[in-house]
This record gives sequence, structure tokens and C-alpha cells, in this order.
Amino acid sequence: MQERYEAVIGLEVHVQLLTRSKMFCSCANRYGAEPNSLTCPVCLGLPGALPALNAKAVDMAIAFGLAIGANIREKSRFYRKQYFYPDLPKGYQITQGPVAVVEEGALEIPGDPAVRGVEGNILAGVERAHLEEDSGKSTHESKRSLVDLNRAGVPLLEIVGKPDLRSPKEAYDYLKTLHRLVIALGICDGNMEEGSFRCDANVSVRPKGQDAFGTRVEIKNLNSFRFVRQALDYEVKRHTELIGAGSGPVQETRGWDAGKGETRIQREKAGGADYRYFPEPDLPPLEITRAEIEAIRASMPELPSQRKARFIVSYGLTDYEADMLTQDRPFADYYESSAKLCGNPKQACNWMLGEMSRAINERGGSIETLGVSAEGLAELISMVDSRTINLTTAKETVFPALLAGEGSPGDIVKKRGLAQISDTSAIEAIVEEVLAAHPAQASELRAGNAKLRGFLVGRIMKAGKGKVNPQMVNEILDAKL
Ligand SMILES: [Zn+2]
Repeated sequence: MQERYEAVIGLEVHVQLLTRSKMFCSCANRYGAEPNSLTCPVCLGLPGALPALNAKAVDMAIAFGLAIGANIREKSRFYRKQYFYPDLPKGYQITQGPVAVVEEGALEIPGDPAVRGVEGNILAGVERAHLEEDSGKSTHESKRSLVDLNRAGVPLLEIVGKPDLRSPKEAYDYLKTLHRLVIALGICDGNMEEGSFRCDANVSVRPKGQDAFGTRVEIKNLNSFRFVRQALDYEVKRHTELIGAGSGPVQETRGWDAGKGETRIQREKAGGADYRYFPEPDLPPLEITRAEIEAIRASMPELPSQRKARFIVSYGLTDYEADMLTQDRPFADYYESSAKLCGNPKQACNWMLGEMSRAINERGGSIETLGVSAEGLAELISMVDSRTINLTTAKETVFPALLAGEGSPGDIVKKRGLAQISDTSAIEAIVEEVLAAHPAQASELRAGNAKLRGFLVGRIMKAGKGKVNPQMVNEILDAKL
């Protein structure tokens, strides 16, 4: 983008809540079941069926609100949002819409120095987060369309971000931070492919220094982090070119075509559609007490930002190290177990960000599929710390064998005869043998010629086939001289 213009981006994210049952009925909230097998009169919208609110979904929304420092509205309610679509069986969606249980929060994300001019974190506002029910899913084939209503009535938290983001990179970081947060809170599995974490983006471009927003375009259904960034890059460039040519974009909804690497128009927006919102008569107003909010606050897990701060203090890590370790929860959990087991948090960090990360990148998958247990890594670190093996042997020989599933580090070291000789009498025998074989050098060293120490230690290491503990060799050599 040219320096003269700036992008204004806000994201709307739909998060499927990890409740066991749906929002207003007891059907299971589960992905991948036989189509239309998880349905009942309530989520099918049959006449006379009455909804009953899932309290767990409300608790999850509150936990999210507390995590972003938002205001939790003690009184909110549900509305009927009317529109017609085949996968919406009732002909309306039950939603909190504008009167949301969570309002006015913020996410701390890294600012983009390319557009801000400075390094550092920024606060990206969240206007509101409201509860609503998901629709079913339509599949369009050449001659027919199929509807699966298993998803109808699944609880959603729609998180509406403020237009505080100034580049596609900031949008990407906002989404990553939000993703990490909802997973850490245990309110969403974060699976973008299965649609449990879905993103729409609003984007406009304006001359730098102008307060008024440019014409806004909405990009729908960005179902991967990469697509969000690519689609926004494309769209910001397109807007900038159109403005530069004197025309400017039109207000419309577009979709991302990943194959062609471009956005394409889906529909023009002629003002806001009339959804004829009215209060849902079958549900009482949603009232939440301070005591309920405080109980949820007390039971909340540690958040990624809190965990990062704790890692810095408790384990003596740098900001960068703590940040890298807390990118995802299983990785951070793994680090913590191995650090505690081996008692060497700094080395555990080095292994996690070095050898372990490299192996994950090379093989694909995650820390959970790598096939090395936290106990295994801790044992390996301990063997280096106790000088059973040296670091080079650990990295070059034992770790690859560990990855290949050859057993525990202890087994591998034993099987391959890699253990350093740390037995005093064995080393003494080798030292005496080498001194006896080189009497001239030994007496010179005794007389104070320190240069000969290297020569003798080298001979001793060689005689010990590189497996003698160097520190012990030096100590024993001193004693013998
Ligand atoms: Zn149901």
C-alpha cells in the first residue's frame, strides 16, 4: 500500500462454543455425525416446541468477557432475527444481536511497525460479543441442494471487533490472539476447517490523516489464518488502486477465491436488510448476578498472557522465549512438564525452541504427534546435566533415536554404549596409564609448563574413546600431579 493511504480493518469472528448440548435443546453439539441425526423438535423449529437456554453457553460468554476486560451486562435478552434461508428451519435465528452480554473489551496484540511507525503492543477493541444459535449447513450439488441440521442450534459467540486494525498483519495477529485465547479458556476447539472458528472481515481504505472511513467491503468466510491475510492484502491493494484512479470501491460483500488468489463479489449491499428484530417471547430476559460473574472469574484457567508473564518470572526466560512457548497450550503444557521433571527450565526451553520445534516443522503435526514424551525429554536433559552424556551426543545421537522410537534416552544410551565414563577408579586407571606412557610431558607439566595439559588431556580423552567425563579427567589429573 502506498504511504498516503491507510487500511481500516475490523473482524467479526463466530466462535462455536464447546458445550455438550445445543443452545436451546438437549441435542448433542458434535461435528461429523450422520446428517440430521442430532435434531429434535426444538432445533428443527417444529410448531409448539419451546427453547430452554443452555446455562453453560452463558458461562462461557462471561468467561470470554472477563478475559478481555469487558463489561458483563447483568441484563440482556434474546431476539428473533427474521430471514429466510433453507438451513434456518424456524425462519428466524435466536440471537442477542445488538444487546449483548459482553460489551466493550479489548485484546492486546502486537502493533504493525510498518504502519504505526513504532514497535510495541496495541489494544484492539472488541465492541461486543453476543450469544446466538448457528444455522444448519447447506451443500449445493449440480441438480440438488442438501441440508444438514445437525449444526442448527449450536451455540455461537459472535465477537465483533472494532475497526482498530491498520494492516492485514494486525488482523492476522488479532485473529491468532483471539484463537489462542478461546482455546485457552476451553470455550472453543478452534478448528477452522470444521468451522468452529470462523472469520469475516470488514475493510476500507482512506487517505492518512482523514477521520471518516472509506467505503467498506465485507469479506465473508475466511476459513484459515493465511486466507485472512491474503484476502486483506488483496483487498487493501484493490481499494488503494481504485481510490488512486479516482473511483473507489463500492460497498459490497465479497468472498475469497483461494485458487485464483483474489476476492470476488458475492452481493451488493443495498443498506441494512430489515430483519424485523423482536424480543423472543419464549425465553425470559437473561439476568446475571455479580456473584455468578465472580464465581466464573474464580474458576477461570490461566490465560496465555498471564502464563507468559509467569514463565518469565518463574523460569527466568526472556520475553521472546516465553512468547514462543505460550503460542499454543499443549506446547506450553509440554514445556512446563519437562521443565519441572528435569529441574532445568532454561535447558528445557532451549530444547523446545530448538530441536523439538525443528522436528515438528520437519515432520509436520504438533507436539502431541511427535512421539516424544515430556518425561523422555526431561530424562535426556537430566542425562546431560549429570554428565552421563554430553550435549553433542544428546543432540546428534540420542535425540534422533528418541524420535525414531528406539526407547527411552536411558535405553538408547545403554544400547549404544554412549555413556560417559564417570567412574573415578576407571578414569584414574586411564590417567595413570597415559602419564606412564608420557613421562617427559608429565614432569614438564608438573614443573609448571601449562601448555602440556592440553596434550595430556587429549591423550586421556582418546584413551577413554571420548567417553570420559572431561571435568573429572581434569580433577583427577590435578590430584595425580
Ligand atoms: Zn435439538
